[in-house]
Amino acid sequence: MFIVLLGAPGSGKGTVAEVLSQNLKLAHISTGDLFRENLKNETELGKEAKSYMDKGELVPDDVTVKMLEQRMEEPDIANGVILDGFPRTVNQAMILDKLLEKKGIKIDMALNIDVPFDEIVKRISDRRSCKGCSAIYNIVFNPPKQEGKCDKCGGELYQREDQKPEVVQNRLEVYKKTADEIIKYYEAKNILRTEKAGDKAGRTSYDVAGEIEEELRTK
Ligand code: AMP
Repeated sequence: MFIVLLGAPGSGKGTVAEVLSQNLKLAHISTGDLFRENLKNETELGKEAKSYMDKGELVPDDVTVKMLEQRMEEPDIANGVILDGFPRTVNQAMILDKLLEKKGIKIDMALNIDVPFDEIVKRISDRRSCKGCSAIYNIVFNPPKQEGKCDKCGGELYQREDQKPEVVQNRLEVYKKTADEIIKYYEAKNILRTEKAGDKAGRTSYDVAGEIEEELRTK
């Protein structure tokens, strides 16, 4: 099974991916997480990506694709994959198609999580990340037990550069520029599935994940 997750940064893709990957035993590949790991380990790739990430811009395709290709060589992808954060442009979608064709893999579903932008800006600005284990909290809905401290590892919580309101706004602008065409790309292939989530829709990303999980189980 190969699922591609679409949706703006902060739409809850990460949550949906985590639930589906755990319950359906799929490898969760998040290009954002892979970049953050490289950043933390101060690799060459991390250094190359940092300036783009700090501004909320897309990292150039050659760097991103190389990183994804390497990740797709790992054995855990045999059980299936949930891909989160890639593709972000039609060009990346076409690159992904070629990469998967070589491996004889077909995309089963492009799941688009649709959350209004005003809800997203608030949501990301309320996020805090752990310096130690990268766990994410929401200071309103999912605060840590002790302010500023991670429940899991005791690490210090901070607001990532790309969680600051002005950068969030830019990340959304970057997303808006390419979102429509990428959605149309998968619509034309008959594999697009759009699910509304958020306060106005009255559905959380956990609700969406649960429904999709049920459906995929019976597939
Ligand atoms: P995310 O956590 O998915 O929002 O990704 C964080 C940052 O990593 C993005 O703002 C980009 O700078 C970079 N990034 C992640 N995925 C991609 C991608 N598919 N193409 C280019 N840059 C990406």
